[in-house]
Amino acid sequence: MGEARLTQAARPALWPAQTLPTALAIIFTLAALPSVIFVLLVLFGGLKPFFAVLGLSAFLIVACLLGLLLGRDIAAMAALLRTLRANPEATPREPALFVPGMAAIGGDAASLIRAERQNRARLTERTAADHALLERLPDPLFRLDSEGVITWRNASALNAFGAETAALLRHPELRLALAQARRSMAPVRKSLALAVPVPRELDATVIPVGDRSYVLITDRTRERSIEKMRADFVANSSHELRTPLASLIGFIETLRGPAADDPEAQARFLGIMAEQAERMQRVIADLLSLSRIEIIEHQPPEEIFYLPPLLERIVAGLEPILATSGTKIDVNVPADLPKIPADPDQLTQVFTNLLDNAIKYGKRGGRIRLYAGPARQDARFEPGGILVAVADDGPGIAREHIPRLTERFYRVDKGRSRAVGGTGLGLAIVKHVINRHRGRLVIDSVEGQGTTFTVWLPVRGA
Ligand code: ADP
Repeated sequence: MGEARLTQAARPALWPAQTLPTALAIIFTLAALPSVIFVLLVLFGGLKPFFAVLGLSAFLIVACLLGLLLGRDIAAMAALLRTLRANPEATPREPALFVPGMAAIGGDAASLIRAERQNRARLTERTAADHALLERLPDPLFRLDSEGVITWRNASALNAFGAETAALLRHPELRLALAQARRSMAPVRKSLALAVPVPRELDATVIPVGDRSYVLITDRTRERSIEKMRADFVANSSHELRTPLASLIGFIETLRGPAADDPEAQARFLGIMAEQAERMQRVIADLLSLSRIEIIEHQPPEEIFYLPPLLERIVAGLEPILATSGTKIDVNVPADLPKIPADPDQLTQVFTNLLDNAIKYGKRGGRIRLYAGPARQDARFEPGGILVAVADDGPGIAREHIPRLTERFYRVDKGRSRAVGGTGLGLAIVKHVINRHRGRLVIDSVEGQGTTFTVWLPVRGA
């Protein structure tokens, strides 16, 4: 490389190789006809031989000098052009030119070459920048030729589709979009769904450029599933409230009509009505807390907090229901637990919900363990945080339910959840609070043996 640059930038030879033949050709062209005329003039007595030799010699000297200088300049320019033709990227030195006309032409040629070279450099730079931008685009981008054959794709296209690219490009909606875009020479956007290897919902925009087409893919899977979740959430929330409300309306009608004079039925119905009203109140309270948490989920808590007294208070508050269910609780929270950035009210909700669930869904008269410590040994959590776990010895949860437990209104057994006063929102609240604390929730369960909910919380905020 260094050697090449040296040769490219080397000073051009003063007398290039082609100088002599070019000079001879010029001398011959200049001298041939005048020499014949001089000879003819002498032969026909029009000029004395002495003057003819003198004139011819002077003429030949001038022709030789001019031929040599012009020949040298032409050879030097030809050598420069040859070098540039052989290697357009070369940067040869411009040769010094002797003949004034040639020097002017050479100067013009050199500035033309310089301008062209600058243009080419700018173009190369711009093309490289454009290419880098397309390559780093977060959305997958493909370039297809006029036959629809892929000629280039960016890194995210390779990442997102890899071996499935052929299936994507064969998709009937995409083929249709390509045909429409070619016909109209305007961008065409279509939505398409891919079923394998994972279900994906995509938007494909086909942009025709000359005889090529660019296909830009936007993955809408997450967006659509959020839209669906929101729609489901609204439907579920209204369903959760409508059921107790319908039962309240039914009882009010009964109390006004058939049971108007039946104090025994009235007392029983009022008891059920109170239960339904409380259930509605719980659902509304949980929905409100969930939305309050969601609003500030992106702002991690700033207060630095020492957890053990809070855990103690929660356990003390649960004493009455522990006593009713006959459940025992073992608490093992070391006093030297490091302080963490935390929102105490929200963490109270987390551990109350987890302990409450352990009591509600655990074994009647069983044993719950609440333990905490620094996250050192467990490889599933980053070291440098703390772990707080709630374990019960209840019936456990079947594996297929575990990933869905933190979804709103998801219950393994709806009837049981309702019977114990559940709203189906407790674990959703737990998940969002932990997200806000930049922590993690891991659920381990062995059917027939019990369930452990482990919360990892970072010691230093993110
Ligand atoms: P719920 O208000 O119904 O208790 P949660 O969101 O707190 O709602 O819990 C969701 C579901 O997870 C519960 O309905 C229950 O089926 C299951 N679950 C939660 N904790 C436990 C546990 N410790 N053992 C077994 N199942 C549990």
